[in-house]
Amino acid sequence: MWALVVLAAVASPMSGIASAALAGIVTGSAAGSVAAACEEPAAARLHVTRCGCCGTVRFCQSPNFVVRTHPGCPAADAVARRCEALRQQLREHLAAQGDWDRWEPRCEVVLHPTRSSYLQAVGPGGAQTVGSSVVRLRGGEVVVRRIDLLSESRGDALSALPHELVHVVLAQLFPDAAPPRWAEEGLALLYDPADKQQRHRDDLRRALQGYGALPMQRLFLEAGSPASWQRGVFYGQSLSVVEYLTALGTREQFVRFVHRCTASGHDAALRDVYGIDGAADLERRWRAHLWAAHRGAVAARP
Ligand SMILES: [Zn+2]
Repeated sequence: MWALVVLAAVASPMSGIASAALAGIVTGSAAGSVAAACEEPAAARLHVTRCGCCGTVRFCQSPNFVVRTHPGCPAADAVARRCEALRQQLREHLAAQGDWDRWEPRCEVVLHPTRSSYLQAVGPGGAQTVGSSVVRLRGGEVVVRRIDLLSESRGDALSALPHELVHVVLAQLFPDAAPPRWAEEGLALLYDPADKQQRHRDDLRRALQGYGALPMQRLFLEAGSPASWQRGVFYGQSLSVVEYLTALGTREQFVRFVHRCTASGHDAALRDVYGIDGAADLERRWRAHLWAAHRGAVAARP
């Protein structure tokens, strides 16, 4: 059994992998509530529990998710609908042929109104994050899927949801060997809000102007939490390389490439899927692409 634990940093760069203690962190919000049933089409039927005081939906079970929220958070049925829509979008983008129908247990999604509640669930490693996910597998089967979100921010309380759901979906698509870290994070970052993506691109730009980007082989081999001074460039470069590769084809093709990476290594996967002659060739092409984009941006300035 191996466990995949990931944390997303929407407010700031990731602080690294943290171990989320699952035992005892899920507290039901249904006490004192009144069960009700939504009027939904059968295929998207939601089972909800409303708060006995205000009538707000605090618990909702949809076909693929179980959502719990607390006072001050968005209603659970709205969150469940968003989760289902995002999962369908990821299915269309990433791997229509994957094993999507074996999605038991449902993915638990918990919204926290305060940082203390959030940190109690995800552990101190999540201090600089607003979303985290954990997937546990046993014998190639997912036995736990869970996403925790901090919804105290003024903006979109679900801004970290797409990123975290990418991690959960990839665990389903890669039950035997986890994807390379750069590929998984880069793909998840593609689904982040534009302002967060821009912060990562700025980190990469500053690195390129200073001590430089990571050698591609170094990026490929990063398996754990990057050293603190490398975090900015690691995430910025992961996003940039995934953007470059997905622009050569489709996101589904990129997922096939990642499968080939886990089976045959990066160099063979690059040759087979993209016709790129290994990591060194990718590095040359990626840097030329960045340089061309930079020159284009400079030329376009008034
Ligand atoms: Zn992530």
